[in-house]
Amino acid sequence: MVLGTYKEALSARSTDKQIQKISQDGGIVTALLSFALDEKIIDGAVVAGPGEDMWKPVPKVAMTSDEILAAAGTKYTLSPNVWTLKEAVRQYGLEKVGTVAIPCQTMGIRKMQSYPFGVRFVADKIALIVGIYCMENFPFESLRTFISEKMGVSPELVEKMDIGKGKFWVHTADETLSIPLKETHGYEQNGCNVCLDYVAELADLSTGSVGSPDGWSTVLTRTDAGDSIFKQAVEAGLIETKPMADVKPGLGLLEKLAKEKKEKNQKTIDDRIAIGLPVPYKASTEKEDPLANY
Ligand SMILES: Cc1cc2nc3c(=O)[nH]c(=O)nc-3n(C[C@H](O)[C@H](O)[C@H](O)COP(=O)(O)OP(=O)(O)OC[C@H]3O[C@@H](n4cnc5c(N)ncnc54)[C@H](O)[C@@H]3O)c2cc1C
Ligand code: SF4
Repeated sequence: MVLGTYKEALSARSTDKQIQKISQDGGIVTALLSFALDEKIIDGAVVAGPGEDMWKPVPKVAMTSDEILAAAGTKYTLSPNVWTLKEAVRQYGLEKVGTVAIPCQTMGIRKMQSYPFGVRFVADKIALIVGIYCMENFPFESLRTFISEKMGVSPELVEKMDIGKGKFWVHTADETLSIPLKETHGYEQNGCNVCLDYVAELADLSTGSVGSPDGWSTVLTRTDAGDSIFKQAVEAGLIETKPMADVKPGLGLLEKLAKEKKEKNQKTIDDRIAIGLPVPYKASTEKEDPLANY
């Protein structure tokens, strides 16, 4: 299955006007982590908080809904959230940790849980992984370079960044600018070219914008824990949903992009193997997909 194993696919958004205003898409990550905190499903969450440099996130152990809210919005560069899980357990003493994670981070956490040598005290404290879709990510200096030099905007003036409709978008107080994604290729992290997971296949539930209208998110519930917390948040009136069949562009676009990522990056993996370079995955058929082992 190109989207991994999932129970339900829905279009959804937070019903909270403040979350709607500052979140990246439907505010699902912020709404769910806050709900989990309020309901004591988790006792803290590792999020990509704001740092000293604008657009350079710093992982943070959020202990309140306000701290979760302060981390809303996508920063298109690495936030080493997995690293901070240890701090959440050891220094904050958390027993049930939630986190938001891009697909590679989700894989890292699941691997840690499957082979917990040296990290047992962290691995068994992870109570909730909210996965976010990810096609590519940029080193911080690359991000700054193409925004300032290719798009002609000072990153300090940017209020929101977004990827959609084949373009990279920046929004300032005065204007909205975009460049085709083909112009940002080459700026992404090298490892993203051999990454086969678009939709955080191993998370408790995954979310992203693709498939849903602006301001809404496409949610895939995956594990019992992820499905249960999502349903509880819907029942509590914190999240509203629509069937995917009723929204455009729909699940077909998500499936198409996930398939294209797997095929394109598998080709890169095969090319690298052919010239003797090391690669993280060697699967060359869907049957051998390494994610299928989890
Ligand atoms: C590098 C990157 C690439 C992405 N590419 C796509 C894509 O191709 N298609 C798609 O549909 N969606 C993509 N997304 C996901 C999308 O941008 C939103 O993050 C997602 O839809 C959640 O929106 P929301 O409104 O529910 O989140 P919000 O409620 O706004 O919360 C966002 C959460 O994401 C966390 N976060 C922000 N930046 C990072 C980061 N760099 N690493 C880890 N966590 C972070 C914050 O801590 C916050 O908790 C990407 C996200 C990232 C970080
Ligand atoms: S494309 Fe893959 S490797 Fe790159 S940041 Fe996203 S999940 Fe990680």
